[in-house]
Amino acid sequence: DEAIELAELAKRMGIKANEMIVKLMGLGVMATVNQTIDYDTASLVAAEFDFEVEKASFEEDALLNVVPEEEDTGTLEACPPVVTIMGHVDHGKTSLLDVIRESKITSGEAGGITQHIGAYNVETPNGGRITFLDTPGHAAFTAMRSRGAQITDIVILVVAADDGVMPQTVEAINHAKAAGVPVVVAVNKMDKVGADPDRIMRELSEHDLLAEDWGGNVIFVKVSAKTGKGIDELLEMVLLQAEVLELRANADRKATGYVVESRLDIGRGAVATVLVKQGTLRDGDPVVCGLHSGHIRAMIDDSGSRVESAGPSTPVEIVGLAGVPDAGDEFVAVASDKDAKQIAGHRMQKQRAKELAKKSRANLQKMFENL
Ligand code: GDP
Ligand code: MG
Repeated sequence: DEAIELAELAKRMGIKANEMIVKLMGLGVMATVNQTIDYDTASLVAAEFDFEVEKASFEEDALLNVVPEEEDTGTLEACPPVVTIMGHVDHGKTSLLDVIRESKITSGEAGGITQHIGAYNVETPNGGRITFLDTPGHAAFTAMRSRGAQITDIVILVVAADDGVMPQTVEAINHAKAAGVPVVVAVNKMDKVGADPDRIMRELSEHDLLAEDWGGNVIFVKVSAKTGKGIDELLEMVLLQAEVLELRANADRKATGYVVESRLDIGRGAVATVLVKQGTLRDGDPVVCGLHSGHIRAMIDDSGSRVESAGPSTPVEIVGLAGVPDAGDEFVAVASDKDAKQIAGHRMQKQRAKELAKKSRANLQKMFENL
């Protein structure tokens, strides 16, 4: 877990780095002077020189000081559900996202440039709010899940009424099942000749998605992303599903959340769209995000306006990280820039040690193959 640079370890033991490299080779580890070696390896090689390595403790959790959700004694309030749209290619994921965004985002700036960030929050006709992840598709969903990020509360499964259940439809169902996320079915392209919603219901019932009309508990809504018909009903049904989930968050604590997407901007540096899960993120907050630290230099909301703070389920673009994080990385607001730097530095070192260990194993293997 812990790691130290080979040169540093040799220096502290008062031996030459080369001696240590030779000794490591004898132990089957290929290493270079600048290499970071992990605790176990350091202990082994130190023992060869009659030294003992002591682990300096680094309690990341103490610095992070994150209250687990189940131990949060603050006031929990309802928060908007976070929704991902999935379905087979060409069934209308992008069209649905577009029609929802265009009809529901009331950006103040007349004719202004609407900044595109990776997620947006909409208000439904009845005043409820929903956050949509603007990255439809299974790749984004799986990438985040593989990093342990449970971002999505509800999946909207789009199935074209004139096509039926296709391979990626089934894939999406399996993803949602594996993540334990409820599905709301949007039977799309209802405007088309040959639309057959009964067929969709029948085919989905074979995948354990039984419509309410048929005695099941899955909500089906007939929509057309082309005409806009059924879209408001779809949003209301998503909110109904959200009520069942009783989504709650405490806005009054240090923010935690996840990166939805990220990039390097020539002028602004690392830019990340994050989704706040718990707490409120504020301008100026020191943060740790994946392997990087920083503090919030600017926050931009989904309509392109600068904002001072962002509460639970709110997507914002943040500027001020020292490096570009990965989608699915967790971010945490911490007490000080110093804490943020220390945690990120520690994570970076661990990561480097892991990569180098992998590389030296590969090198060793190559060496043996060449013998
Ligand atoms: P995606 O691959 O799932 O993102 O699908 P798209 O949103 O790109 O849609 C694929 C095609 O279907 C495009 O040509 C859309 O214009 C069309 N389309 C999407 N929704 C509808 C709909 O409700 N009715 C009709 N007639 N066409 C639609
Ligand atoms: Mg698309």
